[in-house]
Amino acid sequence: MSKVFCRHQHIEETLKHLREAGQRGNECVVLWFGRETATGIEIEAVCRPAQIAGADIFRISPATMRDIIGILAQHGWMIAAQVHSHPREAFHSLADDKWAIVRHENALSLVVPYFAARTTAASFMQDQKTFKLTAGNLWRELAVSEISKWLHVS
Ligand SMILES: [Zn+2]
Repeated sequence: MSKVFCRHQHIEETLKHLREAGQRGNECVVLWFGRETATGIEIEAVCRPAQIAGADIFRISPATMRDIIGILAQHGWMIAAQVHSHPREAFHSLADDKWAIVRHENALSLVVPYFAARTTAASFMQDQKTFKLTAGNLWRELAVSEISKWLHVS
């Protein structure tokens, strides 16, 4: 399993959602829907699902998850990655581990600090932290030098 390919516009759209929620003092989670190809997973859509969010929490209801699964089936997509914001530093909290929406091996979970207020599409790759789910079901932070092996922005 495979490298995720996304476009600049997907990053812009993601940051817009994270910033909007951040202005209200809330975390936000955004899902990247993609298609598996021979070379990797191509992101085709960015989704900000309905969610219950607070300063350090987000939850998605079972009904919304069912809707998401329906959309995935309809388009032949998978959830390639999730991206969420934090009020301050980017890290993967115990709640993030437990409530992660993406669960397949090599799934990516990206965390953007400061509610994305300080992040632009140009600085995204430096500012965010990327976590990858291991075969042993643990979220491991990727070193900066490893990120490009698993995520490519064009
Ligand atoms: Zn978090």
